[in-house]
Amino acid sequence: MSFRELGLDPKILQAVQEAGYTEPTPIQTAAIPQILHGHDLIGIAQTGTGKTAAFTLPMLTKLAPVLGTAGVRGTRALILAPTRELAVQIDENVRAYGRHLPLRVATIFGGVGENPQIQALRNGTNIIIACPGRLLDLMGRRCADFSALQYLVLDEADRMLDMGFLPSIRQIIKSLPQKRQTLLFSATLSREIESLTHEFQRSPKIVQIGRRANPAETVTQLVYEVPKALKPALLIHLLADPSMNMVLVFSRMKHSADRIARNLESKGIATATLHSNRSQNQRLRALKDFKSGAVRVLVATDIAARGIDVDGISHVVNYDFPMHPEDYVHRIGRTGRAHAVGDAISFVTPEDQGELRSLERFIGRGIVRKKAEGFNYAAVGPAEPPDRPRQQQGQRRQSSQSQSGPRGGSRQGGGGGGGGGPRRQDRSSSYGGGGRRFGSR
Ligand code: AMP
Repeated sequence: MSFRELGLDPKILQAVQEAGYTEPTPIQTAAIPQILHGHDLIGIAQTGTGKTAAFTLPMLTKLAPVLGTAGVRGTRALILAPTRELAVQIDENVRAYGRHLPLRVATIFGGVGENPQIQALRNGTNIIIACPGRLLDLMGRRCADFSALQYLVLDEADRMLDMGFLPSIRQIIKSLPQKRQTLLFSATLSREIESLTHEFQRSPKIVQIGRRANPAETVTQLVYEVPKALKPALLIHLLADPSMNMVLVFSRMKHSADRIARNLESKGIATATLHSNRSQNQRLRALKDFKSGAVRVLVATDIAARGIDVDGISHVVNYDFPMHPEDYVHRIGRTGRAHAVGDAISFVTPEDQGELRSLERFIGRGIVRKKAEGFNYAAVGPAEPPDRPRQQQGQRRQSSQSQSGPRGGSRQGGGGGGGGGPRRQDRSSSYGGGGRRFGSR
């Protein structure tokens, strides 16, 4: 099916064409007609599948006839997102797809001054993209007018629940008109998400792309089993491969992100870091340098990396094994975006083995184990400081609502890259069960 056949407004079709999209992705083909028909929708799709356009294009199509007319007052659409970088990325997408429409957009998130956001709301907006916490603050001060609201989007709803936003979301939704179309997107369809949809949606249609909890099919996944002390050396060993030319490394903790970066820099590998202890300017700079190729490696923590949309990431390295299966899916969604192919490499220590098995159950398939050729597994590495207890990290993570990253986001275009790295593919997969946490049996 082509974009033209989906029934989109001609001005939006033009913008889509200018973004370089030639055909809709599967989530777009499935979701757009449902949304145009006025149905509530549950979209189960990972990041990187084109889900932002899947909800934005039909919403803009339906708003297009009224935008700019004298009678249009008040906000028509509210998009809630868990993190500032995702909000900024959605903002960029909405503006790109709506560039030929007289559209007014405001983006609301914490960690920056309120006044420009209040001013933007007062000036009148058609679409608000917001993180729940700050929006609720501003709503408390009567800065937003939702009396004419027609569309509510809950993006990355699973992550919003993980981050403890449910009470704020409930409060926000209480102030919205009951007669509205509600679209909910989530990487997984857990029990919590299902109860959320019962609470906030009416007879929603479900659109599910790929199987539940299934990482993007275009990503080649590999596990390197390695003692913890040898992880620094293994990373440097792998980076000798020039096909690893744009590498996103995930660490669990901010201090270990800094340590990894120092180690790489000491070996002459240009590296930037992205985590919540960095200032906004530092984070912006890190992302800019990574996108431009000024640095080859970006080391990031999970929350700081949410919503990073960088074309051409060749490899994602899970230096520290992710704490939640959803994090794994999101992390490796950074490569293989849209139709590109990328490699996701996970370092797995003996302590991580149980979590690896839980992950494999979750994604419903085994991940190939690989040995790094020429790497001295018998070497004695420097002692790494112990991690904090995992439970405690989980609690920290869930409460760290404001930990967020740069004004990230990049241009449209379906990703690129696809480094040479080791290739294999076991593409068979099935739903492995929807558990929320590693180790939940
Ligand atoms: P998303 O899942 O919304 O984060 O989108 C992932 C990436 O795919 C973004 O860089 C989009 O610009 C891009 N994209 C979205 N739709 C298409 C399409 N139909 N063709 C090519 N790229 C797309």
